[in-house]
This record gives sequence, structure tokens and C-alpha cells, in this order.
Amino acid sequence: MFATKPGVRFVRPVVKSIGRNQILSCRSIPSCHYSTGAGGQGGKANHFLPLTLLGVAAVGLTYYNMNNNTKPPTPSIDPTSSTIQGSPLFPSEKYPEAINVVFVLGGPGSGKGTQCSKLVKDYKFVHLSAGDLLRKEKSTPGSEFGDLIDHYIKEGLIVPQEITIQLLKNAIVEQYDKGNRKFLVDGFPRKMDQALSFEKTVSEGKLVLYFQCPEEVMLQRLLNRGKTSGRSDDNLESIKKRFTTFIQTSMPVVEYFDDQHKVVKVDCNEPVDDVYNHVVSQFKEKNII
Ligand code: ADP
Ligand code: AMP
Repeated sequence: MFATKPGVRFVRPVVKSIGRNQILSCRSIPSCHYSTGAGGQGGKANHFLPLTLLGVAAVGLTYYNMNNNTKPPTPSIDPTSSTIQGSPLFPSEKYPEAINVVFVLGGPGSGKGTQCSKLVKDYKFVHLSAGDLLRKEKSTPGSEFGDLIDHYIKEGLIVPQEITIQLLKNAIVEQYDKGNRKFLVDGFPRKMDQALSFEKTVSEGKLVLYFQCPEEVMLQRLLNRGKTSGRSDDNLESIKKRFTTFIQTSMPVVEYFDDQHKVVKVDCNEPVDDVYNHVVSQFKEKNII
């Protein structure tokens, strides 16, 4: 249902095309005016007036639509921009300094957000969570991607990369303009296409911080979080789907970076501060902090 790319939203409403086609076909095909009712002159005379009125009404409706309600709402993100193609954004003529990107991966509930918050406090990283950005876009009034994002999140599916990468790009540019260069990109890339596109069009990832966690532990954490989070996907049904997506779609990304010796694995089934100590010592070892 949502398989088409977001760009198709500019297709005009069906009701309008029907109106326009009707007018065209009635003008260009003479038999159109005689298609129903009695044949001959009598039939033509009987139908000429109502069909003309119908045509006038359709023209009026088309004109009204064009000037009133068919303009697409102003998109809050632009999926036609150079999301997929193009040279890396950082560094570039416009953004001359390189940025440092650490990808943070791990199953749902493994503690990515918790650990990122601590790193932000102690080491002044900017924390960008793909999930948070998507939820924010979803609840932005007038966002044309709201329903689409909502559906993907509830189903535990990967939101199309055009949307996710554009949201990340916007956030990175905003932070770059404020002088920030160190980013923890949390919950991203969750699919190979994202990994390849992001590294081609935004920046390479210096390191991947990967939290290993037994599914049972993540399940309990998420059910617990669900009591207060208000998230539409912190329920048993969605959690199971998220686990499946993680194994099938996101683990290949971890393996891809592991082959490049970029992955740092941390066991997250320990108290928060213990996990954090492991993270910090690994970051120091790799000269990230
Ligand atoms: P993620 O961002 O990976 O989905 P969160 O950081 O939101 O995960 O953590 C999920 C839940 O588990 C939260 O309620 C959090 O407080 C809790 N949590 C995170 N890390 C730990 C930990 N090491 N031990 C126990 N609970 C944790
Ligand atoms: P999270 O907040 O990381 O638990 O993510 C919640 C949901 O947001 C996921 O189950 C996906 O539906 C969506 N999502 C998060 N990160 C991404 C991503 N990198 N790409 C696509 N969808 C994502």
C-alpha cells in the first residue's frame, strides 16, 4: 500500500482527472453526446442540453479545484532533493569542515537512547535518533508523510530511506550551522540502502556502536517502557515485528560494517552505568573521544 515512493504525492486527485477526461472525451468523440437514449436527431436534442450543462459544471469544478484545494500542502521535507545521488555533503564547498559520525545500532530496547544521552552530557555529542526524527515528523501538523510514517512505525517496518535520510540531513545541517561536528546517529542505518546512500551523500560513519542484547531482555524493557512512553509500537504485537525486522534487515548492516572492522560491540545486559563504562573505554580506544 505504501510501496510507492513519496514523490508520487503530486499526482492530482482522481476526481479531478475524471472530470477532465470526461470533458475531453465528450468534446473529441462526437458519439459521446448520443451514447445513451434514443438514436437520431430526437435523441441528440434530448441529451444535448443536460450534457452541455454537465460539461459546463465539470469545467467549473475543474477550475475550482485548480484554484482551491488541489495544491499539495507545502512539504516539510523535500524528497526530490539530492538524497540519493551526488557527492558527499560534508565536507563540501558549502560545508567545508568534515563531520564525525558514529552510528549507534542494536535491537529495539537495547538501550541506544539511554547511552546516547549520557554521551551527550559528558562529551558534547549531538544525538540524532532516526526514530525520534520520524516521530516528530509524524506529529508535525500538515506533514504529508504523517500517515505513512505512522503505518511503518506500528508495523515495525523501515520507513523509506528518502524520508529518513532527508530528516537526518536537515538535522545535521541545522547542527552544523550551530558549530557542531560530532554526531551520534542512533537507530541508523537500519537497512543496507540507507547505509550506502548516507555514506555516499552525507558522510562516512567513523564507527558503529552496536549493543548486543538478548531478545527476552529487550522485550521486558520495552513492555516496561510502554507503560509510560505512549508509543504506538511499544506493545507486544509491534515489538515482535520490530524484532523480526531487526534480524532480517538491520543485522546485515551490522555485518557489513563489521567486515570493515568498524563495529564496536558492547553487551547491554548490564546496569546502565556499567554499559556506559564499556562504551567510554571503547570510544577512547578508538580515538572517538
Ligand atoms: P532503545 O533506544 O535502544 O530503544 P532505550 O534507551 O529507550 O532503548 O531503553 C529501553 C528501555 O530500557 C528504557 O525504558 C530504558 O530506561 C531501559 N534501559 C536502558 N538501558 C538499560 C540497562 N542497561 N538496564 C536496564 N534498563 C535499561
Ligand atoms: P526507534 O525509535 O529506534 O525504536 O524506532 C522506531 C521505529 O521508527 C522503527 O521501528 C521504524 O519503524 C522507524 N525507524 C527508526 N529508525 C529508522 C530508520 N533508520 N529507517 C527507517 N525507519 C526507522
